[in-house]
Amino acid sequence: MTGYNRVLLKLSGEVFGGGKVGIDPDVVQRIAHEIAEVVQTGTQVAVVTGGGNFFRGAELQQRGMDRVRADYMGMLGIVMNCLALQDFLEKLGVDTRVQTAITMGQVAEPYVPRRAIRHMEKGRVVIFGAGMGMPFFSTDTVAVQRALESRCEVVLYDKSGVDGIYSADPKKDPSATKFDELTYDEAISRGLQIMDQTAFTLCSENKLPMIVFGMADEGAILKAVRGEKIGTLVHP
Ligand code: UDP
Repeated sequence: MTGYNRVLLKLSGEVFGGGKVGIDPDVVQRIAHEIAEVVQTGTQVAVVTGGGNFFRGAELQQRGMDRVRADYMGMLGIVMNCLALQDFLEKLGVDTRVQTAITMGQVAEPYVPRRAIRHMEKGRVVIFGAGMGMPFFSTDTVAVQRALESRCEVVLYDKSGVDGIYSADPKKDPSATKFDELTYDEAISRGLQIMDQTAFTLCSENKLPMIVFGMADEGAILKAVRGEKIGTLVHP
């Protein structure tokens, strides 16, 4: 394995908050450093951020909110993570553009896929925010859609708290075992909960590999980009 030329990195909201609500600047700075290292190698990077450190629509629905409105709140939360990451990347001298699926001209460009590709070709990191701009989606699925449309070769998923895909949730089941590799058919038939099934299906149909890992492992992004063994590789 020789590594990848263009990757899409999906960062969970949880990692931005360091496990709490809001943003932990120290953590975001560390992530920015790791992304900067990758950019220096010449690999083109796009990022999709989650927003679970602010709001998850499904959780707010359980507490009595209208799902659609709650999902829009979720999408707005995601944008705050994008802006924080942009800030730390630019402090490191990495040119960055945020593109949002919900137009907000004062803080970000609108989502224009061809322009996003052009930014990456120029060495800029493109951060896709506000999810798909539509309720009822998760950012895991958005990551696949953006990776496909911007012609990335792989989706790298940070899943905070775990270092790959396990046969069951390792926090609840101590007998759970980690997979080094899986096919999409296996992942779907086992009903693995770590990822949205839609994300698995979309990757499978379009033959896009994914690597699932945890950011707790220092230098994880660079290792994944270089094609070193890390986390779990899921392939067609
Ligand atoms: N969301 C949405 N549409 C999208 C992407 C996200 O409605 O296309 C909302 C949804 O409420 C979700 C929240 O934004 O719960 C935060 O995203 P997600 O839960 O995927 O973040 P993560 O779990 O990665 O932190």
